[in-house]
Amino acid sequence: MNPAPADAGILFMRRDGDGDKFRSTIAASPENVVRSDHGTTLGNAFGASIATVEHLLAALAISQIDNAFIDITGPEIPILDGSAAPFLEGFETAGVRVQSSPRSSFEVAEAVHIVDDDRAILIEPADDFSLKVEIDFEDCLIGRQSLSISLRDAEEIARIASARTFCRLYEVDALRRAGLIRGGSLENSIVVDGERLLNGAGLRDSHEFVLHKALDLLGDLYLLGMPVRGAVHAIKPGHDLNCRAALALYRQLHPARQAAAV
Ligand SMILES: [Zn+2]
Repeated sequence: MNPAPADAGILFMRRDGDGDKFRSTIAASPENVVRSDHGTTLGNAFGASIATVEHLLAALAISQIDNAFIDITGPEIPILDGSAAPFLEGFETAGVRVQSSPRSSFEVAEAVHIVDDDRAILIEPADDFSLKVEIDFEDCLIGRQSLSISLRDAEEIARIASARTFCRLYEVDALRRAGLIRGGSLENSIVVDGERLLNGAGLRDSHEFVLHKALDLLGDLYLLGMPVRGAVHAIKPGHDLNCRAALALYRQLHPARQAAAV
């Protein structure tokens, strides 16, 4: 990762292979989401794509980094330990350059309600960012968890940043068959089977599951490239809903583009 000029935004570039396909940038933008089933994948018109951008984007959001060039030599951001903590450690070691241009934030003008059956993301105008996340899984170990955060408390931010990705054991085979989680292991994800945890070392936090959902949502909303001033309430969120919410906010920011698309 390298510094980028003010107002450049977050720009990814595939550096593997030859030809235009992998020499073109992919901007972090809700418009560039090409998949959002098991993670968030960005792509461009040349067919280049980068998967699993959400944890890195969450780390950028937490670190208030608005501009960065991110070079990558493969189709997916490294999963590392399944959380955003290693990225934050990297930023701390490297340092962050302060730029003279003022930082933008996105003020929610109109409420956004993305609803899919019993799942929803509701974003209301507010003076500051707040996030409430609720999850409800049939696995007893996860069950119902709810969390409200403001991102003003460094301890809460650290809890979110270190929450790891999780999956259910029965999903693992299906994901493998779909060609996903090829680098998946107990080193970089929590695996749950009903009331059983397969990771010997246990959880990092009793609320690690809902904390990770909050992390994913922070990352996906950061596709906007700036912090959101609004009250976000997510019920059983996933990348699909998160990205639809980010796109709805983006349309408020760029109404002209929506008209052009119609
Ligand atoms: Zn995640």
